[in-house]
Amino acid sequence: MDLGIKGRTAIVCAASKGLGKGCAMALAKEGVNVVISARGKEALEVTADEIRKATGVEVTTVVCDVTTDAGRKALLAACPNPDILINNAGGPPPGDFKDFDEAAWRLAVEGNMITPIALIKAVVYGMMDRGYGRIVNITSASIKNPIASLELSNGARLGLTGAVAVLARKTTGKNVTINGILPGPFDTDRLRNTTKGLAEKAGRPLADVEAERKMAVPAKRFGTTEEFGATVAFLCSAHAGYITGQNILIDGGGYPGPL
Ligand code: NAP
Repeated sequence: MDLGIKGRTAIVCAASKGLGKGCAMALAKEGVNVVISARGKEALEVTADEIRKATGVEVTTVVCDVTTDAGRKALLAACPNPDILINNAGGPPPGDFKDFDEAAWRLAVEGNMITPIALIKAVVYGMMDRGYGRIVNITSASIKNPIASLELSNGARLGLTGAVAVLARKTTGKNVTINGILPGPFDTDRLRNTTKGLAEKAGRPLADVEAERKMAVPAKRFGTTEEFGATVAFLCSAHAGYITGQNILIDGGGYPGPL
């Protein structure tokens, strides 16, 4: 299927690796020029070259911390009028509720709630004026089914979800949609690191812990960044203008409920 977005421009935040990279590559394969960001320059440039070689689209890199005001300004300066915005950043650290101090909560809210809200506010009205916009917030399956030890993430991401729910209905008459995508376990560096941490803590072989985590998913495997990117690309497509304000699980069946 031709997604009808060739020649459009996307900002993909936090995209040198993992889910963000999967989105950038999938959009680029549809002929979308991408502006990608990350804090580390080296991996970002490697990814940019990989996308250019695979697709031939224009790839702009912005080395920045997207959770800071200066980082967001740099990103918007490189691309003030995107057609597509993919909000993403690293997730807050795990821990025990009793150990999270106010500073930790502020950081989580800044990174996973205020940052995407600020970027949306900066670009959404231009999208409405131009009559095309697709905004996808990468959140987590934890907003449907909160994960123990990830309270910082559960809270900040649910806050973002609530914050844009009304806006997503106001923009859709101008062909601008805002949706959340809720990943379960995907095979990325982040997941590999958390699995390693669990194995070390339990003093068990990494392969055993990894196999157990996979078996806990009804699909019996982790998701791939390619299938994540393909889903996001569809949400950004010309065909998806009637999907807005939705929060779409992509979790191999992990969430047990029908709704
Ligand atoms: P990942 O493989 O560790 O990749 C993270 C990417 O984001 C890297 O390119 C990293 O580059 C960049 N990044 C991180 N913090 C950034 C910041 N402040 N500013 C700019 N770039 C930043 O992680 P992932 O698995 O793709 O996860 C992406 C998001 O999805 C996270 O919020 C994670 O919590 C969430 N999530 C992931 C899963 C999963 O199973 N993978 C499940 C649910 C939710 P630099 O480090 O160089 O900045």
